[in-house]
Amino acid sequence: MMISEKMKPMIQNSSVIRAMFEEGIKMAAIYGKENVYDFSLGNPSVPAPECVKQAILAELEQTDPGLLHGYMPNAGYEDVRQAVADSLNRRFDMDYDASNIIMTVGAASGLNDILKTILNPGDEVITFAPFFVEYVSYVKNYDGILKVVPPDTKTFQPDLDGMEEMITEKTKAVIVNTPNNPTGVVYSEDTIRRMGEILTKKSQENGQPIVLISDEPYRELVYDGVKVPYIPKFYRDTVVVYSYSKSLSLPGERIGYLAIPKAMTDSAEVIAAATIAHRILGSVNAPSLMQRVIKRCVDQTTDVSIYDRNRNLLYQSLKEYGFECVKPEGAFYLFVKCPGDDEAAFCQACKEEHILVVPGSSFYCPGFVRISYCVSYEQIERSLPAFQAVARKYGLI
Ligand code: PLP
Repeated sequence: MMISEKMKPMIQNSSVIRAMFEEGIKMAAIYGKENVYDFSLGNPSVPAPECVKQAILAELEQTDPGLLHGYMPNAGYEDVRQAVADSLNRRFDMDYDASNIIMTVGAASGLNDILKTILNPGDEVITFAPFFVEYVSYVKNYDGILKVVPPDTKTFQPDLDGMEEMITEKTKAVIVNTPNNPTGVVYSEDTIRRMGEILTKKSQENGQPIVLISDEPYRELVYDGVKVPYIPKFYRDTVVVYSYSKSLSLPGERIGYLAIPKAMTDSAEVIAAATIAHRILGSVNAPSLMQRVIKRCVDQTTDVSIYDRNRNLLYQSLKEYGFECVKPEGAFYLFVKCPGDDEAAFCQACKEEHILVVPGSSFYCPGFVRISYCVSYEQIERSLPAFQAVARKYGLI
């Protein structure tokens, strides 16, 4: 057998997602693309802002190709990291400088870098269901053990008592993701403050600092003026894992950063180790052209009002048809309760109406489905009769 034992379950998991993707293509070929309502993917539907294109063109014209396309320090260009630090200092009143920022190949790479930096085999990492399922593989990559706090399915706010009970002497990190994939929920300042207090207390009791990893690809995607608390302000051992995949609609370009605060325990060692982790995991450095783009577009965001319009139409329509769902305050997902609590039957009922959604069990939260509204407004409009038909099947209308 060529492949490792560790890889076998990972292949199985990813084939579920691939099967859904292939199903969408198959259905589009049979019924026509416009008659299939694919809400399964988290691929931004809003184009990257104009500044991205202008930045690429300007860099290609102005920068010496040797510099633009060459190797660089593993953490990234110093001036780019300083620009990111300055922006964060302005926005969140932090004291970062270039040395606190490591440019990464998106959030996926940042998460792997920090987990490799801190985990010994058998160390525990806590997260909250529902969550981005790749955390399972990322923690396993470094022989850590992922422990999952069950969801509060009424609010989808994190169960902090559950987290506290789960912490042991082996707990090395907690991963939070707010605004959340798949619920769209944003954790309040009170929640973050209390979480910080518990982690401080537990770190002291155990004599082992617990790192709070804040996975924030959706920080900029918020609605109704909601504020996303900046977590390092509330807990000093926080590492921010950021990505421009959603905020600038650049998921294929693979660009993000790690922010490791000065105040963090052993900050300089963590920064040095994370930089080496980034290199030896094979990323070496973040894509050079995209780093230069980030310097020019550091305070820009994609047009969030387009997602907001989608959110309002879909949320209001589904509520009107009798579905249950917490109104998302951020990201571009709705997490809808399956009527009858049978997830497989509900997904099948949706499929019969040509609606593709992701089962909640893919996020460790069965009995729900994730509907991504990063699609065209027209797709949502066209899909509404299909959602109505599903609601009718369940006697909701
Ligand atoms: N974390 C969460 C919660 C996500 O939803 C995603 C992507 O959808 C990622 C991390 C990975 O993002 P990136 O494209 O920056 O690697």
